Amino acid sequence: MTPSPEVSLVIPVYNEQESLPALFDRLFPVVEGLGRSCEVVFINDGSRDASLPLLVRAVQDHPYVRLIDFNGNFGQHMAILAGFAHARGEKVLTLDADLQNPPEEIPRLLEQMDGGHDVVGTHRVGRRDPLFRKLASKVVNRISNRITGLAIQDYGCMLRGYDRRIVDLINQCRETTTFLPALAQKFAQSPVDIPVGHAEREHGTSKYGLYRLVRLNFDLMTGFSLVPLQAVTLMGLLVSALSVLFGLFLVLRRLLVGAEAEGLFTLMALNFFLLGVLLFGIGISGEYVGRIYLEVRQRPRYLVRRLYPEGPEKESRP
Ligand code: UDP
Ligand code: MG
Repeated sequence: MTPSPEVSLVIPVYNEQESLPALFDRLFPVVEGLGRSCEVVFINDGSRDASLPLLVRAVQDHPYVRLIDFNGNFGQHMAILAGFAHARGEKVLTLDADLQNPPEEIPRLLEQMDGGHDVVGTHRVGRRDPLFRKLASKVVNRISNRITGLAIQDYGCMLRGYDRRIVDLINQCRETTTFLPALAQKFAQSPVDIPVGHAEREHGTSKYGLYRLVRLNFDLMTGFSLVPLQAVTLMGLLVSALSVLFGLFLVLRRLLVGAEAEGLFTLMALNFFLLGVLLFGIGISGEYVGRIYLEVRQRPRYLVRRLYPEGPEKESRP
């Protein structure tokens, strides 16, 4: 292993004991056939299954494999951030451990980076996920681009490449909740997006249920845009303007036609609607306030239990 390899592969792992053997079988031949110096940095994100011993074995068997063992589950994006802090390569690639991103695509990403692109994104063609996930992603990708002002085709695809400058910039960011592809896109000078194949998850289950997906998307929205807050303000302005008009209409009506008494249920419907808008607004402000609260406490973003092979730990919040 050279002191500083050309390529680092960063792979977060959370309860992937079924996928890991297959991943090793396909990934390591690709790594050895790259013709470039390469390291693989696994992050064990608090797995409660047999992932850790499998990963430790991989470290023992291959000189280019390293492992960061987390002291609990801190989430995919924090795991990748830890990987970035420890990766030494000039080009840093991320991929999932479940083989949904084929490792055989790695050389194609590297080619794009050789061509001078500092961020290489990918979008999944022939995506193999449940229909509900695909539809939801379509809507989410649209809305996300609208709100963040970014142009990312597929927010969910984590097979991505970043050059050293981008990784250093990301390492300087201290945010406790983040969404890596969006952060990188902000810093990119010459990003590119290529189509990649996508496979069904063969072993284990997705670690993202509906609730975690929604939370992740709140991180994306609040982390990269104030549009949700401004939208609530605009909605408030609109409702106020409409109610002034409505008030005027009622005054005129009283003068011309006389007082009205009906319409109790219309009033209730209107009230419920406005109550909904109000709760929605409070919720959105709360999302931002909660994140400010997380930031000011300055707790470590993740905790490392141990590094394999043993080495100096890069702190999560220097
Ligand atoms: N992952 C992680 N921590 C988590 C959730 C997921 O490190 O809290 C890893 C997981 O092991 C996998 C990758 O992130 O390597 C993507 O997760 P998953 O395949 O469940 O997401 P999906 O493909 O369903 O979006
Ligand atoms: Mg997956």
